[in-house]
Parts: sequence; C-alpha cells; structure tokens
Amino acid sequence: MTPERRIRVAAENLHTVFPEANSLDYFEAGVSQAFPTDELAGGSAFTYFAPKQKTQYLEIVRSPDWAYPVGSSNYRVFFAGEHVSYTHGWIHGAMEAGLRCAQQAHTSANSLPSKQLYGSSFDPGFGFV
Ligand SMILES: Cc1cc2nc3c(=O)[nH]c(=O)nc-3n(C[C@H](O)[C@H](O)[C@H](O)COP(=O)(O)OP(=O)(O)OC[C@H]3O[C@@H](n4cnc5c(N)ncnc54)[C@H](O)[C@@H]3O)c2cc1C
Repeated sequence: MTPERRIRVAAENLHTVFPEANSLDYFEAGVSQAFPTDELAGGSAFTYFAPKQKTQYLEIVRSPDWAYPVGSSNYRVFFAGEHVSYTHGWIHGAMEAGLRCAQQAHTSANSLPSKQLYGSSFDPGFGFV
C-alpha cells in the first residue's frame, strides 16, 4: 500500500467502527509509519525472540554486571528495556524492567558499607543500611 492509501484505509476503518463520530467529515491529514520497513527501527517495532531464546537468555540479560570490587555484589550496570522483561513488546515490559533495575541498583548500593561505595575520603554522612 502507498502511504496515502494506508491513511485512507485507516480513516475508513475508524469510520466503520465508530460511524456515529462522522470522523471522515473531520479528517484533515494523516501520517503513515510502516515500522517493518523502517531501517532505523531495525525493521521491527520491538524485540522478537527466536524459539527458546527467551528461556535460554532472559535470566542472563536481566542480570546486573560490572561488580566493583570485582567479585562483590556491588554492581554498576543494569539492563532495562522491554527486551529484558517477561512482557517484552509492551510498555508494561519496559516499566517492569525499569522497576527491576531500580531494585537491583538499590540492592547493590546496600551490599557494601558506605565508605567502600564512595571511597574512604568521602563520607556522605549517612549509612546504607
Ligand atoms: C508502532 C508501535 C506501536 C506500539 N503499540 C504499543 C501499544 O499499543 N501498547 C504497548 O504497551 N506497547 C506498544 N508498543 C511497544 C512499546 O512502545 C515499547 O515496548 C516500549 O516503548 C519500549 O520501551 P523501552 O524503554 O524499552 O524502549 P524505547 O521506548 O525504544 O526507548 C529507548 C530510548 O533509547 C534511546 N536511545 C537509543 N539508542 C541510544 C543511545 N545510543 N544513546 C542514548 N539514547 C538512545 C531511544 O531514542 C529511545 O528514546 C508499540 C511500539 C510501536 C513501535
């Protein structure tokens, strides 16, 4: 379909669903965006896992990384986004991952005494309990 035809079909479909709105009478202009053909969107609107990839990799990509000191639980890098959630493909997944990252950051920050977090020369004046 051409972009003009897509806009027309969408407007007609809206009219079919809500005829009482007389939306075609008010129609002025439209914009069409085809994500599957959008190079900058990577040809997709969101993540598509291949079969079994989610089972295999999700727990790994949800895990925080870059512990400092090495071997500690004080992680510095956290992975957010719909693609690292159980409900990928939805805004819900992005929020779920964001909340999980906040929780992981909080847990990491609490894993060391404050002096180790900030270095011995800086005492923020409050402790992480
Ligand atoms: C057409 C379409 C319709 C959709 N409809 C729905 C719907 O009805 N309901 C629903 O729940 N979900 C819908 N979704 C999915 C939903 O929009 C996504 O799941 C959600 O926005 C993902 O959020 P995110 O934070 O993971 O990523 P994004 O919202 O993509 O945010 C990533 C951000 O990172 C920025 N960024 C990228 N690279 C860099 C970089 N190198 N440096 C700095 N910033 C960078 C980007 O500019 C972007 O702002 C739809 C998506 C599309 C495309």
